Amino acid sequence: MNELILKNIYPLEWNERITFTCCGCGSCCRHVKESVPLETLDTYRLAKHFREHGESVVCMDDILSRYAEPVLLDECGYFVYMLKTTGPDDACIFLKDNRCTIQAAKPRACRTYPLSAEPTETGFRYHLCTEKPHHFQGKAFKARDFMKRYFTREDQNFINLDFQSTVPIADLLRQIPEKRKKAALILFLRYKYSDFDLDMPFMEQYEKNIQKLLSGLKELI
Ligand code: SF4
Ligand code: SF4
Repeated sequence: MNELILKNIYPLEWNERITFTCCGCGSCCRHVKESVPLETLDTYRLAKHFREHGESVVCMDDILSRYAEPVLLDECGYFVYMLKTTGPDDACIFLKDNRCTIQAAKPRACRTYPLSAEPTETGFRYHLCTEKPHHFQGKAFKARDFMKRYFTREDQNFINLDFQSTVPIADLLRQIPEKRKKAALILFLRYKYSDFDLDMPFMEQYEKNIQKLLSGLKELI
C-alpha cells in the first residue's frame, strides 16, 4: 500500500493483510448521491431478490425505474445506473435505521467495500478505500480471502466482459449519426439493462446481449 492513485483509494496487494470490522454505523451509505453503481448483474440479482420476497417485479426495468437513476458517463451517450438517494443527507434509498435493507442482494460495490477490484490482463488489481478510518480495526485478514468471499466468480466474469466491451461500445456510439442517436440509446438500454429473462442464467444472456448491441450499433452507423 504505497501509491496514492485517487483521493483515499490505494492499490492493495492480494496477499496484503488488513483489519476491518463493520460496526453498522451506516456512514458509507449516506452522502452517496450518484455514487453507488447498480450494475447490470446487480439489477438482475435485485430483481430476483424482490420477486422472491413478494414484490411485484416482472423485469429488470421495474427495479431500475423504482430504485436507480441514469448517470451519463460520456457525451457519446454511454450511461450507467446509480442507486437513488433520499433525505437531506442523500442517504441510499435502501438505508433504513442505519441498516441496509437489501443485505442479501446488495450491489457488488457495497459487498466488497472498502475493497474494490479492477480487471487487468492477468487477473484483478485490488484497491482499498480509506475514507472511513474508524472501521480499520479488529482481526487482520488477507485481501485475497476477503475478496474470495465477497467477489464471486460470476462478478469476475461480468466485470471482465463489462470492461472489455465499454470502449468498443462507446466508440460505436460516437460514430452514430445524430438522427439515429435515439435509436442507438434505445438499443443500449435494451441490451445492457433490460432484455434479460430472470429465470435464465445471467452470464449467457449478457454475453449474447453485448454481441447484439455491438452488431446493432454497427448497423446504425
Ligand atoms: S463499512 Fe464502515 S462506514 Fe460502512 S457501515 Fe460498516 S463501519 Fe460504517
Ligand atoms: S445498497 Fe445497502 S450497503 Fe449499498 S449503499 Fe445502499 S444501504 Fe448501503
